[in-house]
Amino acid sequence: MSLNPRLVKESFAVVEPVADKAAAYFYGRLFAENPHLRAMFPPAMDVQRDRLFTALTRIVWSLDSPGGLSALLDRLGRDHRGYGVVAEHYGAVESALLATLRRFAAEVWDAETEAAWSAAYAAVADIMIGSAESEAGIRPAWWSAEVTGHELRTPDIAVITLRTAGRLPYLPGQYVNVQTARWPRVWRPFSIANAPRRDGTVRLHVRAVPGGWVSTALVGHTRVGDTVTLGSPLGTMTPQGSGRDILCVAGGTGLAPIKAILEHVITSGPRPRIHLLYGARTARELYDLPDLTRMASGFPSLRVVPVVSGDPGYGGLRGPLPEVTERLRRWDDHEIYVCGPAGMVGETVRRLRRNGTPSAAILRDPVRGAR
Ligand SMILES: Cc1cc2nc3c(=O)[nH]c(=O)nc-3n(C[C@H](O)[C@H](O)[C@H](O)COP(=O)(O)OP(=O)(O)OC[C@H]3O[C@@H](n4cnc5c(N)ncnc54)[C@H](O)[C@@H]3O)c2cc1C
Repeated sequence: MSLNPRLVKESFAVVEPVADKAAAYFYGRLFAENPHLRAMFPPAMDVQRDRLFTALTRIVWSLDSPGGLSALLDRLGRDHRGYGVVAEHYGAVESALLATLRRFAAEVWDAETEAAWSAAYAAVADIMIGSAESEAGIRPAWWSAEVTGHELRTPDIAVITLRTAGRLPYLPGQYVNVQTARWPRVWRPFSIANAPRRDGTVRLHVRAVPGGWVSTALVGHTRVGDTVTLGSPLGTMTPQGSGRDILCVAGGTGLAPIKAILEHVITSGPRPRIHLLYGARTARELYDLPDLTRMASGFPSLRVVPVVSGDPGYGGLRGPLPEVTERLRRWDDHEIYVCGPAGMVGETVRRLRRNGTPSAAILRDPVRGAR
């Protein structure tokens, strides 16, 4: 069977406008045919349904660009290992997926389209299974971690220290999926806020989102001595080591991966000059400023610039972070890291590009949500 990306894309385009219904149908089929698989998924399936379609959309529209696709599938394969997915599950998923497509793309579905999907699925599953298997025996699928510190910096932001059972291999700037005992099988990504340490501890900066499952569990219902589970470290916003001066723009808990990168840069090799623009709505929400100021006093090449957007009485730099970044100076000769709420990151990157910074010089995390 040969790949036919055109047929796959054409039929998928018919399903996209009814993605919510199709995803609900897909999981209904999957669990009806394989009731034992339900226990692998979280109690509430809304986030899961979104993730399915986001992943499927990226896979389908990347079928023509094998380089990007295999990097994505490699990550998905490793990620799914952490959720307990094994090779046998792929057959069950294929059967539910084809049933869903047959129903929701009925107007264009024929034997040739079905063969194209089967071939594409087989190729995708092969890469994902291969990636998962290549990691088995080298590193665990997940790490159990004990909470050794829980510091409430504001009513809704906690800095949490964890000690993993076994070393967690990660690069500064990466994130891990986290599961709490309160909500089994509900995983959310959180950035690691420190460079690897000799004692193996990792820190998370967590803001409780109103009504959020995992963030409120971590901020409000987690104590020293509790256990959480971490998946494999992920993410490509890691130190580039270009030797150029560095600009970091961090909004809210977007500071976490930036701080890990800073710790790495100031303790390794030649030290470039670093500007950290650290923003929040109020001065009180600059929850890590004392620590950053301490860091800067030990490393004169680091300049920490606090920025407040929502308090007209604030005595320092005021305004939205993207605007202040642009106002301060040109950054087109810098290595740049940007992290925070999706809107802030998008707008900062847009302004930097507009002022001549090449896209390749700007690193950012996957989208984090609204705040
Ligand atoms: C790569 C990556 C790294 C991240 N790192 C961090 C980090 O270091 N620290 C941190 O605090 N968070 C971080 N996040 C966000 C985090 O993963 C969760 O999305 C967030 O904590 C909410 O999860 P929840 O289970 O509490 O809420 P959910 O149960 O998923 O959502 C509850 C409600 O809140 C809304 N919601 C979800 N997320 C947000 C948000 N960010 N802002 C406003 N409303 C929201 C949802 O739409 C829903 O209505 C990161 C996200 C990504 C993608």
